[in-house]
Amino acid sequence: MEAIEFLQASPLAVVLVAGVLGLLVGSFLNVLVYRLPLMLQRDWQAQAREVLELPVDEGLKPFNLLFPPSRCPHCCAGIRAWQNIPLLSWLLLRGRCSGCKGRISLRYPLVELASGLLAVVVAWQLGGTAQGLALLVLTWGLLALSLIDADHQLLPDTLVLPLLWLGLIVNSFGLFVSLEDAVYGAVFGYLALWLVFWLFKLVTGKEGMGYGDFKLLAMLGAWGGWQVLPLTILLSSVVGAVLGVIILRLQRQGMAQPLPFGPYLAIAGWIAIIWGEQITRSYLQFAGFNP
Ligand SMILES: [Zn+2]
Repeated sequence: MEAIEFLQASPLAVVLVAGVLGLLVGSFLNVLVYRLPLMLQRDWQAQAREVLELPVDEGLKPFNLLFPPSRCPHCCAGIRAWQNIPLLSWLLLRGRCSGCKGRISLRYPLVELASGLLAVVVAWQLGGTAQGLALLVLTWGLLALSLIDADHQLLPDTLVLPLLWLGLIVNSFGLFVSLEDAVYGAVFGYLALWLVFWLFKLVTGKEGMGYGDFKLLAMLGAWGGWQVLPLTILLSSVVGAVLGVIILRLQRQGMAQPLPFGPYLAIAGWIAIIWGEQITRSYLQFAGFNP
């Protein structure tokens, strides 16, 4: 209890604790982002074999978030505890495996850094409150979803749906909005993109996004209420335009590769939930309204 009182009294300590926690969670997110899609794929294959009445693949070794332990992809050497410290290990090893000197992707420390920095922003904005703690969970969830969607164009239900229920639960205590606003946020979030999807399909004959995107916006609505939906949709197109141009510049390739919409929605929703009211108020003042 003393620790909690200390954290409440010292905003700087809260920010530091959140940052370190963010680095550690980032290390776990790297595992989750890499393994969860593979686990789902194995599940789908097993289900498909069952439907087709093919024999069960007996030789399949267990594969989950804890097993097998992390290994170097080049020489398969196990990763020791001191080599698993977020950010620091990568810097100490200068991005190379200690055994075979094979390169370790820069992406791992970057994800850890992003997770830590985002946690710092949340802690700095909301402090050591129940709101802050809940928002940390949402933030890490959105980071994992964005990375998985960017890699595989997939927003797994196994992550989106529990986060949706969690949004409704935290708002049953009125943490961000009333439960009523949260329920309408989830429903209208889903319907809004479902409607856009079908209109787009009727007009152009193409599919612009997937059902995962509808569920993601429903989830964001469950956290921030229906109030965040217009700003989230508006911001996601702005974020999409800005990031889209940057990514195309970096990759120097045409529009052939479809850019997943999930990361844009996630970033926009996160901004709208934290700063939505401030953004809307400043805009109304800027536009000449004085509420
Ligand atoms: Zn190695």
